Amino acid sequence: MDLIFRQLLDPASSTYTYLLADPGAGQAVLIDPVFEQARRDAALVGELGLTLLYTLDTHVHADHITGAWLLKRALGSRIGVARDSGARGMDVAIEDGQRLAFGARSLEARATPGHTGGCMTFVLDDRSMAFTGDALLIRGAGRTDFQHGSASTLYRSITTRIFTLPDDCLVYPAHDYRGLTCSSVAEERAHNPRIGHGSSEQDFVGYMENLGLPHPKQIDVAVPANLACGHTELADSLEAPDWAPLRYTYAGINEVDPEWVADHGSQVRILDVREPGEFNGTLGHIPGATLVPLARLQEAASGLPRDQPLVLVCRSGARSAQAVTLLEKAGFTRVANLAGGMLGWNSQRLPVSHSA
Ligand code: FE
Repeated sequence: MDLIFRQLLDPASSTYTYLLADPGAGQAVLIDPVFEQARRDAALVGELGLTLLYTLDTHVHADHITGAWLLKRALGSRIGVARDSGARGMDVAIEDGQRLAFGARSLEARATPGHTGGCMTFVLDDRSMAFTGDALLIRGAGRTDFQHGSASTLYRSITTRIFTLPDDCLVYPAHDYRGLTCSSVAEERAHNPRIGHGSSEQDFVGYMENLGLPHPKQIDVAVPANLACGHTELADSLEAPDWAPLRYTYAGINEVDPEWVADHGSQVRILDVREPGEFNGTLGHIPGATLVPLARLQEAASGLPRDQPLVLVCRSGARSAQAVTLLEKAGFTRVANLAGGMLGWNSQRLPVSHSA
């Protein structure tokens, strides 16, 4: 059975987000999305032509805010989190054993409490992958010293509900702080220093109670926000730019469509970053555009207006995407790339000037 699978990283919190989709049905789920990465995740879902049915959180996280609510607002996805998590405002209160379908594929929710009181592991229908949250980590296990954690409970969850999966079932955790990306049930059962190679419940509890970890930096912000499924006032600070209907790409660039620029050209400053010969060449240029070749943009940046949004143009949209990144680094906040460049502009027969 076909599956689209992507492992995404939030570097700030070392959180992994997983996209799973049935390519035939075009339906997707995201496991453990991160608030600050919601635009990225929405862009990927869009560029792959998928409909996001659910966001699923493995638990109420203490180290980052979930992107669940932002993705619901952007894409209409339903928020799923365990009924026992303590969270409010979810669309699906997930119970042990529940199946969450996307197209012909599905995930089975397995209650694996211990790191928190409401942790879930999501197991793919063919048992080839398990998304273990912070229950089982790669050569580790989630801490058990807050949020109704219990080392004894976690021991039983891992040994009876994860280690009983097939040996070759891949283990994908919610975090890894060394950049390890994937393990397997057999591998963790053999080599996990906390709970592998025959560690008893007593061994595990002794280990977990002596970790001596610092208080999580984000806990006082993240837990209240996650109890509301990521619906926080911080969401307003991430509001999309309102000066144009921009589209954020997975490549990390804000794009604007040529039709909008053609209709609103007087509200923006159009900067063409091609070479002079191209500016007056066969594709021509947008009337009113200012020529600033990409190689000279850095030095010209200080003279550019800051009170007007900037739309960057080149032949295909590649050099101008680079220009957007350069100007954003220089502190410009209202900058966008013209989608498709002059090639797209001409193919839509929008007005062109050929005079110098
Ligand atoms: Fe956690």
